[in-house]
Amino acid sequence: MKVELSKLTISELRGLLDRKEVTVREVVDSVYKRIDSVEDRIRAFVTITRDKAYEMASVSGNRAVNDNSMPLRGIPIAVKDNMCTKGIRTTCSSKILHSFIPPYESTATARLIENGYILTGKTNLDEFAMGSSTENSGFHTTRNPWDLERIPGGSSGGSAAAVASDECIAALGSDTGGSIRQPAALCGIVGLKPTYGRVSRYGLVAFASSLDQIGPLTKNVMDSAIMLNAISGHDPLDSTSAEAGVPDHTSTLGRDIKGMKIGIPNEYFIDGMDKDVEGAVKKAINQLESLGAVPVEVTLPHTSYAVAAYYILATSEASSNLARYDGVKYGFRAAGKDLLETYMNTRAQGFSPEVKRRIMLGTYALSSGYYDAYYKKAQQVRTLIKRDFEEAFKAVDVIVTPTTPTAAFKIGEKADDPLQMYLSDIFTISVNLAGVPGISIPCGFTSNSLPIGLQIIGKHFDEETVLMAAYAYEQSTEWHKRKPCL
Ligand code: GLN
Repeated sequence: MKVELSKLTISELRGLLDRKEVTVREVVDSVYKRIDSVEDRIRAFVTITRDKAYEMASVSGNRAVNDNSMPLRGIPIAVKDNMCTKGIRTTCSSKILHSFIPPYESTATARLIENGYILTGKTNLDEFAMGSSTENSGFHTTRNPWDLERIPGGSSGGSAAAVASDECIAALGSDTGGSIRQPAALCGIVGLKPTYGRVSRYGLVAFASSLDQIGPLTKNVMDSAIMLNAISGHDPLDSTSAEAGVPDHTSTLGRDIKGMKIGIPNEYFIDGMDKDVEGAVKKAINQLESLGAVPVEVTLPHTSYAVAAYYILATSEASSNLARYDGVKYGFRAAGKDLLETYMNTRAQGFSPEVKRRIMLGTYALSSGYYDAYYKKAQQVRTLIKRDFEEAFKAVDVIVTPTTPTAAFKIGEKADDPLQMYLSDIFTISVNLAGVPGISIPCGFTSNSLPIGLQIIGKHFDEETVLMAAYAYEQSTEWHKRKPCL
């Protein structure tokens, strides 16, 4: 039987393409065939860029094979719809940007172009990346390929569902408080949030600029490293992008993890956590131990303040970043009798309730008289959380935790309860506040066959060790090979 190319990984396709066993066009055909058969059930995409993909395929199909400067040559990759793609609609899943066509390319996607990728489409998200379920999309809800009645996670739920259902080979997402790792965990794939500053944010529509970071969603750890290599590195167009040199992240994969110290923070094994999730993560820790890693108890004492601090800081930054959507400069405009009414009607009709809630909360936290009590306090808490990680990393190489407290929940289950929704990111948010890298990899299934994620957190700019530990675990298990039945 002929293999379905859409089900393969970047590295598997790289081999087939370089040996000329398949053509770029065949790979692209396979991905669109898959999209045609499953997308009406999954709804991962906001825009499917079929014509553009075939145009890109004919360019990269003509490139010399074995061109090492193009590790993504001919690989169909989906991009979260909050990264600007020149000439291609970029909506942030918001009505306010429904017709916005960027005149420029984000740096992350420009680097994918340099690497020879093929854009499959732009994926659905919670509006402006605010949410944990993709239910806040201004357009539609994406479904979890493992159970169509459940959410795929968020905010990069479209990207995660597209990868898990083989509607693309890999995808880009963005992570402000967990939006790459959480949907990766709930869809049974690999999601990496790099160190803050590792990947340029130029052209990523800003939600909370001090936390946002672009990263890959992939079918395995090797592909995550390949994607990270492609998108990383200093960018003069983003003043927060780091000058740090970029190693070859694939080079440490396969190394022995004997003696690696893995920190286990007891603050991450809490009441209310799903028993199947807790069991799978504890088994994963035992597995790492059997590979020679040494578990060490560590403490991250300010963990319980992370969600509160995050929702002050993220909403404050959002209230400032979203001020630009006023009906004058971009996309949607609602009529009004004067300028003020035009602003008001545009924002009232263009933003969903969650976005409005955050703009109000953030504006309040930044207003005079409240600034010291909320924003400044949250910044101080952020520093304490960062110091917790610095202290812990004096004793260990990586920290291992669950990615989420539960597996995927039902569509609608938390939609009317924002506080419950905010708690879905309880294990991922501190990582953004501290600016360190974190990955989620598959580590098991619940009794009702839903995927569970293991989070591995590293030191600043030490994605190499994170990937090395993740790869060692992955290669000793079979979880990443399972696929949903669609
Ligand atoms: N779920 C979190 C939020 O709603 C994180 C979102 C994200 O990482 N973009 O803000």
